[in-house]
Amino acid sequence: MSEKPIIVIGAGMCGLSTAIWLQRFGHAVTLLDKGAPGMGASYGNAGLLAQWAVAPVTSPTLWRDAPKLLLNPSSPLFMKWAYFPKLLPWLSQYLSHANDVATRRIVSNLIPILSDAVEQHKSLVRGTDLERWVCDSKFSYAYPSKAHFEADAYAWRMKKLAGFIPKVITGSDVQDCEPILGSRTQCLAVLEGQGHITNPGEYIAELTRYLAKNGGKFVQAEVRDFQKKDGHIYAVETDQGTFECSKAVITAGIWSKDLMRKLNLRVPLETERGYHIIFENPSEMPRDPMMVTTGKFGVNPMDMGLRCAGTVELGDHHAGPSKAPFSLLMHRTKEVFPNLSYSGTQQWMGFRPSTPDSVPLIGQLGHSGIYTGFGHQHVGLTAGPKTGRLIAQMISGQSPNIDMSAYAPERYVAL
Ligand SMILES: Cc1cc2nc3c(=O)[nH]c(=O)nc-3n(C[C@H](O)[C@H](O)[C@H](O)COP(=O)(O)OP(=O)(O)OC[C@H]3O[C@@H](n4cnc5c(N)ncnc54)[C@H](O)[C@@H]3O)c2cc1C
Repeated sequence: MSEKPIIVIGAGMCGLSTAIWLQRFGHAVTLLDKGAPGMGASYGNAGLLAQWAVAPVTSPTLWRDAPKLLLNPSSPLFMKWAYFPKLLPWLSQYLSHANDVATRRIVSNLIPILSDAVEQHKSLVRGTDLERWVCDSKFSYAYPSKAHFEADAYAWRMKKLAGFIPKVITGSDVQDCEPILGSRTQCLAVLEGQGHITNPGEYIAELTRYLAKNGGKFVQAEVRDFQKKDGHIYAVETDQGTFECSKAVITAGIWSKDLMRKLNLRVPLETERGYHIIFENPSEMPRDPMMVTTGKFGVNPMDMGLRCAGTVELGDHHAGPSKAPFSLLMHRTKEVFPNLSYSGTQQWMGFRPSTPDSVPLIGQLGHSGIYTGFGHQHVGLTAGPKTGRLIAQMISGQSPNIDMSAYAPERYVAL
């Protein structure tokens, strides 16, 4: 066991998974978060274990589609225009990946951290009373018509590379399969063998209690700076004092960008802001989670109601929510579920942490003893447990059985 603890910064899905796997590898762990655990992006996501989400947003058709989407007020892509000038350097790198060669490279880099996610979540919770959180399910893409499904052929070809081939259902069979869907949905592309979480915020809160029960420590403290000795991490400074450590892991989602600045490292990380609406006490629920393709949002029958979560708004991580994405979510939900009634709604906005190449930074910053585990864009809930396991293996001197060079922080930061 290490003399001083390893400090993990950020108690979202990635941080909790890292802390638990480090603990299982025999390390003393202190997990720090500026707020309560699981209140960042990991709180309000769609709860989908999106093993199939290997095709990045930057598909080769983005060049054709993005201008139309941005100018169309009923499309699920939004921009906070005041932030546009600051976004430009990241955006130009991001768009440079919108071609077939880069997409295939991204797909092959995402497959190892996504495609076994249900199994990874199960091994995170195996043998504990947390097992009930990881639900097996089917997952469907709901399309207005078969032609809309066919127009998505490129993304489905990418999913096929990961072994995900849908069963396509059309006509009235759609409503037999999912009675909540109205007649505007005429095609379902169904994937078997998927999974979901029914309350991501509570899942993380319970994982934190599990960590503490097994000897790990959670402290509510905001990390402000790092102290190094001979180039190696020695302590982190917080608003609650200084915490000595043997190593540190930055798993602070979008705020990792600010922490990297404390190390004099500029990382191209921006947020794809996402929104959810919870329909409380819904009159009906889907049998399984699904994707409403007209609004690019996931639908998940959760403990607290029916959650519709998604859309993308490019902007900064300091500004509050906009109205238009909520209106779009509401409009598209009523369109696909025409008979849905409910007692009330809850609204939320969160920050997906996204790199230009849609691949997270997982690895050590040189020989500093500081590791990164952030940049999981749309799939951090899904990939958190695998990320945590990989970081724990690297810290414990074990070689992960996948090539880690694609995730190396050096591709974006000069060390
Ligand atoms: C609307 C929406 C829907 C989504 N749907 C899905 C989905 O269905 N499936 C999926 O896999 N992914 C989904 N995602 C993406 C997913 O939620 C994120 O990728 C993931 O939650 C990122 O996890 P994280 O642990 O990296 O960051 P976060 O969950 O954001 O956690 C970072 C933590 O770091 C803490 N922190 C920050 N700065 C400091 C500091 N200085 N000191 C201490 N603590 C600090 C924060 O308080 C926070 O708790 C969705 C996202 C959104 C917004």
